[in-house]
Amino acid sequence: MAEDPSPRLDAAVDRLREQLVADRRDLHRHPELSYRETRTAELCAERCEQLGYAVRTGVGGTGVLADLDSGRPGPTVMVRADTDALPIVERGTHRPVTSEVEGAMHACGHDGHVAMALGVADVLAGLRESWSGRVRMCFQPAEEVAGGAQPMIDQGAMEGVDRVLGIHLWAPLQVGRVAVTPGPLFGSADEFGLVVRGRGGHGGMPHTSVDPVACAAQVVTALQTIVSRETSPFQPAVVTIGRIEGGMAFNVIAEEVRMRGTVRAFEQSERERLLQRIAEVAADIAASMRCEAEFIRANGCPPVVSDAAVAEVVRRAAVATVGEENVDVAPRITVGDDVALFLERAPGCYFLVGAGDVAAHPVAPHHHPEFDIDERCLPVGVGVLARAALAELNGR
Ligand SMILES: [Zn+2]
Ligand SMILES: [Zn+2]
Repeated sequence: MAEDPSPRLDAAVDRLREQLVADRRDLHRHPELSYRETRTAELCAERCEQLGYAVRTGVGGTGVLADLDSGRPGPTVMVRADTDALPIVERGTHRPVTSEVEGAMHACGHDGHVAMALGVADVLAGLRESWSGRVRMCFQPAEEVAGGAQPMIDQGAMEGVDRVLGIHLWAPLQVGRVAVTPGPLFGSADEFGLVVRGRGGHGGMPHTSVDPVACAAQVVTALQTIVSRETSPFQPAVVTIGRIEGGMAFNVIAEEVRMRGTVRAFEQSERERLLQRIAEVAADIAASMRCEAEFIRANGCPPVVSDAAVAEVVRRAAVATVGEENVDVAPRITVGDDVALFLERAPGCYFLVGAGDVAAHPVAPHHHPEFDIDERCLPVGVGVLARAALAELNGR
């Protein structure tokens, strides 16, 4: 391109400042739980249509895809934003607006993600004559339950996509800073269930029963050795049993104990090994205590891995937006995000944009009832994302 679109990009982001805050606040007031993001989807579809995008709604449920073609040959760059809120009762009165839906709250910053993606859609539409190829905006539902990306992929979300870009706002990172990590950023996240079955009976005569509670206690302890004794100390991994349930009365031996847990890893092979060992250890411990253990694999997603070359494009976009001194390499974090499924299918980069004023006051963690974002993060995210998309569209 003959002309450097950078100053025009900055001006476009600047013009959007009020809109970004207004959109974020509107979404914050109307949070929608996973798989029920209908109002949010309508807003995304309507706005993108106004901007000239070709919009597909109801993609894999409440997903929205919006395409803008430059009319010139080039790559297809997808910008992904997750749209769902959490089943949390919001607390605290310090924020400009609060949730108006009882029992639902944007406590992870996805309200900001959607607002920023709409901003990027706007900026790129305005600069349409200065890029080639095609932009695809992807508004993905049900991230919090790792259930939204796969149905969108099943309905063609990744067809023809060459690059994937996405942001997670990050409250522990100072607002005004951006963190880009080549390689794994977030871990895999898998949910699993275990059912330990024994034989019920009288609590005073345990020898006439097979006690699944005593067995489950051994299983929980043994599972922790999969990380502490079988995994390299240089390989981050987590095995957590978050829920355990069994028995009806103090003097009754239960029939069964049900557990649910999660596994985190940063390599696909490690992820599979951990899940397999959980099943094996549970089965073998149970057998040694005359019980049976059934392992149930539930929803899950692979680690979030950014391509090194795309991460470098994003890093340069971040430097151009906030300056070298405000760009970090983020350490790995053992949360999960099903953006991983998009990143498995095309090279891309998922990066963090600082969303808390940690220098001024303590910041509530993500998924906390008092979680909030510092809205100054919004134009930063739009600037980096739009700039990175532009670089990819124009062959860097
Ligand atoms: Zn979350
Ligand atoms: Zn999130």
